[in-house]
Amino acid sequence: MADCIFCSGALDRHTKPEHVLLNAMGGRKTTTRVICSSCNNQFGNGIDKALAAQAEIIRNVLQMESGTGNPAPMLRKVKAGTDVVNLRGGGTLDLVSKPFSFAELPDGRASIQINAGSLEQIERLIPSIVAASGIPEAEIRSQLSAASARRVERRPGAIHIRLAFGGQDAIRSAAKACLVLWALRVENDEVRGPMYEAARDCVTTGRDNFHKNRTALDTRLPGIADQITQHYGPIFNLIYVRSNAAGRVIGHFTFYNLLGFQFVLAESGGTPEQAIALVSNPLSPTTWSVEAADLFDIPFDWLDRPEFDQDFVVQRQRISEAYRPLGARARRKERDRIIDAVCDDCGLGESDPVSDSVRIQIFSEIIARCAAHALSLPFEKPIKAEQMRATFGGRSPDGE
Ligand SMILES: [Zn+2]
Repeated sequence: MADCIFCSGALDRHTKPEHVLLNAMGGRKTTTRVICSSCNNQFGNGIDKALAAQAEIIRNVLQMESGTGNPAPMLRKVKAGTDVVNLRGGGTLDLVSKPFSFAELPDGRASIQINAGSLEQIERLIPSIVAASGIPEAEIRSQLSAASARRVERRPGAIHIRLAFGGQDAIRSAAKACLVLWALRVENDEVRGPMYEAARDCVTTGRDNFHKNRTALDTRLPGIADQITQHYGPIFNLIYVRSNAAGRVIGHFTFYNLLGFQFVLAESGGTPEQAIALVSNPLSPTTWSVEAADLFDIPFDWLDRPEFDQDFVVQRQRISEAYRPLGARARRKERDRIIDAVCDDCGLGESDPVSDSVRIQIFSEIIARCAAHALSLPFEKPIKAEQMRATFGGRSPDGE
């Protein structure tokens, strides 16, 4: 078997599969023929993490699973207007707030303020409140059962998300992906040769002159982007490596159809006139191909002349287009949640008969809550005294 292209270690049947495109980015193509397990581990814990981290925001916003089906990552402590929220990868969010605060008042009384999503959540908080305040549980329950509580529902403020790309380690990981893919075309012995030394060195040690002289960011769209998006979605990932007649080898990594990383893998002396490309749809990771160079012909000269334009207008449009169906789905889900909550409040099951007066009450509340939601206004409703009594008054620590 061949040797590892980076450390010349032997590859055998125990070699760990290397993802050519990161699993975190939805990559499914793996190989055991190019990189040894030890290099694989080292990159996985280092430069690959840096590239995966740059994909986290777009993965979260567009709810993109990994190649192996792990959910999109959660973004923690994101500012949403005046709130701070955790954005879950499935499109829901949690308000980050202190669950309760306890203060002793000068007149000897104490004040406890509780923020919770439901009465059940308050129930679960009781042991912590007892521990923090030193007030006996029975006393806390009796206070709670007589307390006035309101349910407040409101949309969080606007979330501003900044996408950041580049950085030495992420670029090294992208260069590695290009070298690994190229090795699948020209064999490992060539990629271990002297013409690729600077590129290999950049991946393994991050030597700076390669970054300055032989890598570039690229914001152009390939001429055939429309063709690619038809098959692989609006924000495809594409790794394209191609050589010209002189054996100059260019690697080009299109990151979510937003930005390209370009690498001169060899100035000259590589196998001439070869191409290999891996394309995948991160919105649907089962859709990918390593035959993309046969499907989509990107000329060598295009790959060899990157341009960087600070203005990301087109890229922003693509993200919002990809987000539109998710946004519509989220609105439908929120509407369904409101309808369920109102019916629950009225104690109505799915097939229960509904009297006219209850129907009017339900409709008017659904309309009021949906309108408040659409206008980003809070919807407030007092929690009934009997509900508070039923939840907190009926039990005490030593039973009834
Ligand atoms: Zn190795």
